[in-house]
Amino acid sequence: MSNPNYHINTKCIQGGYQPENGQPRVLPIYQSTTYKYDSSEHVGRLFDLVEDGFFYSRIANPTVDAVERKIAELEGGIGALCTSSGQAAVLLAILNICNAGDHIISSAAIYGGTTNLFTVTLKKLGIEVTMISPESSEDEIQAAFQDNTKCLYAETIANPALIVADLEKFAKLAKKNGVPFMVDNTFPTPINCRPIEFGANIVVHSTSKYMDGHAVALGGVIVDGGNFDWNNGKFPELSTPDESYHGMIYTESCGNKAYIVKARVQLMRDFGSTPSPNNAFLLNLGLETLHLRVERHCSNALKVAEWLEKNEKIAWVNYPGLMSSKYYERAKKYMPNGTCGVISFGVKGGRDAAVKFMDSLKLAAIVVHVADARTSVLHPASTTHRQLNDEQLVEAGVSPDLVRMSIGIEDVNDIISDLEQALEEVK
Ligand SMILES: *Cc1c(COP(=O)(O)O)cnc(C)c1O
Repeated sequence: MSNPNYHINTKCIQGGYQPENGQPRVLPIYQSTTYKYDSSEHVGRLFDLVEDGFFYSRIANPTVDAVERKIAELEGGIGALCTSSGQAAVLLAILNICNAGDHIISSAAIYGGTTNLFTVTLKKLGIEVTMISPESSEDEIQAAFQDNTKCLYAETIANPALIVADLEKFAKLAKKNGVPFMVDNTFPTPINCRPIEFGANIVVHSTSKYMDGHAVALGGVIVDGGNFDWNNGKFPELSTPDESYHGMIYTESCGNKAYIVKARVQLMRDFGSTPSPNNAFLLNLGLETLHLRVERHCSNALKVAEWLEKNEKIAWVNYPGLMSSKYYERAKKYMPNGTCGVISFGVKGGRDAAVKFMDSLKLAAIVVHVADARTSVLHPASTTHRQLNDEQLVEAGVSPDLVRMSIGIEDVNDIISDLEQALEEVK
């Protein structure tokens, strides 16, 4: 671990990997599936988790391990597990505490892929999900709890609705009901928000977005806040012997790391959604400039949002950093330094005008991605959210005319000029 007193900007660069005398200055890519030992007995101790070390890269790899340590430091967690994608992170994070017959509660304002996972695939696995409005009152959230509820789930800033979750409200209800509060913190990144500081217990990310930042490596991560009591009787899989891991009791053997150790040695072992060392190396490069990029993404996005708001061809603009946003105050509370680089807006004339506008952009490209260095646009209703019906679209905060724009770190004047010429094409 780097010096715990370092500021987060320093942790982006120095966190995770601390070379010793004569070792490579830069985190090396350990492109090896396996590790050599002098005795079987030593390998046995590794399997028993009584000694630290690597034995097979599906479970752990030194390059991936360094990145996990860095991200845990950035989020203020006690450990992390990197996965091959954000989807894999969300899936493993849930399956680590839910079995068939269990139930979770989720804010409806979440990523479209997560909505599919929750409402279709988890359902097939026998896990029921109740979707609630992110603006539900405490009483309404309380009413959604059942005896078999195992988790409360939300996104800090929902993709693409840009709804800011009231983290403390959710954390309070989760705590009251003895279940963890799990937060997808992909959009703000730990630079702008650290949900564990507001009571979250588990944080997940798609690292494919700002953390990588260059659109080169898919990835995800689960961060354990180490601040939940898994011994409260609701999570026997963590507090009673795991027969698949020679009777280990995670809460006894691993203390406050029970959750993240189980996710690794049980679920990563069995599902194998492991990131490659090469992708972990690329993710680490991205993390080294995360603090600089996020700052520029946010300042560019604010300028673009303010410009769009004044433009007569624009019907509405949604950006939590805008004073006109109904989430402005909440965003200031949870993200005082900025929110994210993604904005959404409607072009007057609805769906057709939106499509004409997008097709006329030259600098901004139409891509199914957000949060990399290049400015991009997407029409969620016809792409990422096309599986949702109109009712689900409204619930997820996605109107049919919504254009999602991910503001890059180019010169903001060039981004605005591009928007200007494209809007002129919209009659
Ligand atoms: C992209 C995204 C995901 C899924 O991540 P992948 O890396 O694409 O699998 C999950 N949550 C949010 C908020 C996302 O933006």
